[in-house]
Amino acid sequence: MTDTWIPKRAMFIYAHPDDVDFSAGATAAKWARGGSEVTYVILTDGNAGSHDPGMTKERLGRMRRAEQEAAAAVVGAKACIFLGCQDGLLEPTLALRKRLVGLIREHRPEAVVCGDPRRYFSGSTYINHPDHRAAARVAVEAVFPAAEMNLLYPDLVTEGLTGHKPNYVYISTHEDPDYYVDVTETIELKIEALRQHHSQLGDWDPGPRIRDRCAELGKQGGCEYAECFRRMMLKPLETERR
Ligand SMILES: [Zn+2]
Repeated sequence: MTDTWIPKRAMFIYAHPDDVDFSAGATAAKWARGGSEVTYVILTDGNAGSHDPGMTKERLGRMRRAEQEAAAAVVGAKACIFLGCQDGLLEPTLALRKRLVGLIREHRPEAVVCGDPRRYFSGSTYINHPDHRAAARVAVEAVFPAAEMNLLYPDLVTEGLTGHKPNYVYISTHEDPDYYVDVTETIELKIEALRQHHSQLGDWDPGPRIRDRCAELGKQGGCEYAECFRRMMLKPLETERR
């Protein structure tokens, strides 16, 4: 199934700067272009991700936040929220779940986009970063059922952050995707957003690999270029109820 729906508000929750751009950047760009209020929540600053012996965590963290802000501007995301958790040591704690519930209640997204908490391996050459699984797990656990349960966090309700249930969760990097977003018009924005992550990409041009991958997914989704997801429906849209 190829997606045509554009949420009014969408929240993308990922572990590191650049994860959202690799996983779902063209979808974010498509939704932003279509009028969606797109918010990125980046759990760590990715500040352990350097092999440069002269680098410090503080400097790298600042660089990576700035790179993610630049990438978000390319895509048209409205806000980047950095939670500053420790890169490489991310855990899906109850405290982090509560922080995400607070953000979900504040921003009230119709769609939440995150990774797959079960993803350990990809092909025969890639072991998934444990932060990616932790981020995906805490995101899914914040979305359901915690975000809608007022009695779970009375202090949040006192602050005016009342329960909210997103309509959909889009799981990227799922091994059995069932939903394809036609990103033919925004694939170049995804590539341009990825190019903002200079500290990670160096001289590597992500264009050819991203075009190949999205073309492959496009064949499956029936369009030129696609990104794919497993889409979970938590609550039908008003229009779907009629
Ligand atoms: Zn990552």
